[in-house]
Amino acid sequence: MIGIYGGTFDPVHYGHLRTALEVKEKFLLDEVRLIPCAQPAHKALPLTLPEMRLAMLELAVKNQPGLVIDRRELVRDGYSYMIDTLKSLRSETPRQSLLLFIGTDAFKGLADWYQWQQLFDYAHIVVITRPGYQLKQIPDFLSSKLTEDREKLIRDRLGYLFFQSVTQLDISATAIRATIEAGLNPGFLLPDNVINYIKNNKLYLT
Ligand code: ATP
Repeated sequence: MIGIYGGTFDPVHYGHLRTALEVKEKFLLDEVRLIPCAQPAHKALPLTLPEMRLAMLELAVKNQPGLVIDRRELVRDGYSYMIDTLKSLRSETPRQSLLLFIGTDAFKGLADWYQWQQLFDYAHIVVITRPGYQLKQIPDFLSSKLTEDREKLIRDRLGYLFFQSVTQLDISATAIRATIEAGLNPGFLLPDNVINYIKNNKLYLT
């Protein structure tokens, strides 16, 4: 089973890294692919050059077996649609379960994603929640995909919606950028080697 964790990673932080590690262990995944996007469809273009966001990810997962950086969105032109990413991953891994992990914030906007219903034709979607998260009403289409049976995610390669709670770290890249811009220390929110990279390259100062 392969996990897929997309984002802008501007910069990558412990909220991303802890989540990736926990889901890798909880679902016994062979690997979690961290996929930095080039051009998000629903967010402003990241402030930081793709090669710099990539360099920070590389520093962050250097000694973490099973957390793998996947560059496919960076080498593709146009918007980084997740459906295209899943199609290309699926063509490389026809027999394995693919688990697409998204945060609850991203899940709330899922119906705005390009060809969002077809995502289930290529992967399962696992929503990362807080412990004790109460599911509010979700559209019928998503209800029809919902399962609480983890085994189904292994047995079938795609098509289910699953909610998984992980340790909550109230960290966001937005808050880290604001901290640095304010001249404050972002220590303990992201790895030290990433902080050093940010300092050396004078990122997020304005
Ligand atoms: P920004 O603040 O710039 O919007 P972000 O910190 O939300 O960035 P992204 O790279 O946009 O990070 O997020 C990628 C994925 O990681 C999304 O699915 C998002 O829900 C999830 N994510 C972000 N922060 C956390 C966190 N603290 N804990 C768990 N998941 C997170």
